[in-house]
Amino acid sequence: MRVIVVGAGLAGLTCAKVLAERGAEVAVFEASDGVGGRVRTDEVDGFLLDRGFQVYFTAYPAARRHLDHAKLDLRAFDPGAVVCRGGRKSILSDPRRDLGSLAPSILSDAATAGDKLRTLKLAVSARQDESESAGERLDGDVTSLEYLRGLGFSERILDRFFRPFYGGIFLDRDLGTSSRVLRFTFKMLASGETVIPARGIGEIPKQLASHLPEEAIYLNSPVEELLQDGERVSGVRSSGTEHEADAVVVATDAPVARRLVGATVPEGSVGQTCLYYALSGLGAGKKILLNGEDGGFLNNVVEISNISEAYAPPGESLVSAVTLGIPDAPDEELFRRGVSDITRWYPDADLRPLAIYRIPFAQFSQPPGVHDELPENRTETQGLVLAGEYTEDSSINGAMLSGERAAAEVLR
Ligand SMILES: Cc1cc2nc3c(=O)[nH]c(=O)nc-3n(C[C@H](O)[C@H](O)[C@H](O)COP(=O)(O)OP(=O)(O)OC[C@H]3O[C@@H](n4cnc5c(N)ncnc54)[C@H](O)[C@@H]3O)c2cc1C
Repeated sequence: MRVIVVGAGLAGLTCAKVLAERGAEVAVFEASDGVGGRVRTDEVDGFLLDRGFQVYFTAYPAARRHLDHAKLDLRAFDPGAVVCRGGRKSILSDPRRDLGSLAPSILSDAATAGDKLRTLKLAVSARQDESESAGERLDGDVTSLEYLRGLGFSERILDRFFRPFYGGIFLDRDLGTSSRVLRFTFKMLASGETVIPARGIGEIPKQLASHLPEEAIYLNSPVEELLQDGERVSGVRSSGTEHEADAVVVATDAPVARRLVGATVPEGSVGQTCLYYALSGLGAGKKILLNGEDGGFLNNVVEISNISEAYAPPGESLVSAVTLGIPDAPDEELFRRGVSDITRWYPDADLRPLAIYRIPFAQFSQPPGVHDELPENRTETQGLVLAGEYTEDSSINGAMLSGERAAAEVLR
């Protein structure tokens, strides 16, 4: 059986890996110059720059089935976060997982005593969920903000911790994202580690691609249209050449899937702007720093070379700083505003601007109810299967689960 996969993001690569393992002849057509889609790392002057700040959770159930964690040489963040307000920093953590921060967690003024108890209770109950992805829980769905307020969390911890922390993960500081995503993320945080591969997030797709023969992946090969044989999809046209197949898996991002096959996919998107600075060292440890102030510019900051030293050349450090959305300002102004926030927390920081990544479409928007409307992998058209985060949930795990399910559909 010959299968063409359109798109070498995590969904397409996972699909191709599973099909190749089952003996199918697979060809992957990728529009860009590398594998990974939204999950790529650039090497610039000895620094590793992920295309936007992203993390991997070792508890991701679908991803675990396809990735060799040991070979990725995963490096862990310390649990919890440091909440920065003005010149003050307070540590919030789950003391059961981070004994070192037990005292600071209890002392932190970002949360009330009741909030700390509620956080522990939520972690315990979320751990018992059996869902494979954020979209799967079929009980009621409200915004994360409504959900957390319903559990009785104080406005103080909502503003100082949940908004910047989950805002950084969902790219939505308003916490309008589905409570299913919040609960699933809570489970991931409570059940495993938050990590990055030692040599950048782009190692994840590279490992998936290593399961395929090199000649099976065609880079710089955008698919312009699908070929039809009567009612059946029979191949693709790429760079003007026709390629036949028994099945075609469209594993692009949602907007391209809409254009190529008319798929009904989610409409909205959320984005981030990621600023990189080089410096001699911030001394910020291995926790994520959160901006606990209203109206701050940066949402979250991490000295990422403390997580993996390979992110910076010897003797240097790398800071990754995120502002949500795409501010309409030139690079110099964004760098200046980033420096202004970080030096409020670390007055001696000597930050050298390195690079900016503006990523308008990082994830599709996930308001309550969106997961019930997502398309299936199976389509009405013979020979055509869909893969992509937009059939599950917007995450590394969602994309890989979708790829796995698309492969099963092709084999069926
Ligand atoms: C900045 C950022 C931060 C994120 N943070 C996290 C995080 O911390 N944790 C987490 O789990 N997830 C995170 N995500 C989400 C996660 O990265 C995505 O959900 C996932 O990578 C989507 O994979 P995909 O394969 O569905 O789509 P994509 O990665 O978009 O892959 C689609 C591929 O199709 C290709 N393509 C498009 N059109 C064509 C065509 N016509 N012909 C051929 N190829 C085509 C594209 O070039 C691309 O390679 C983040 C994403 C971003 C961008």
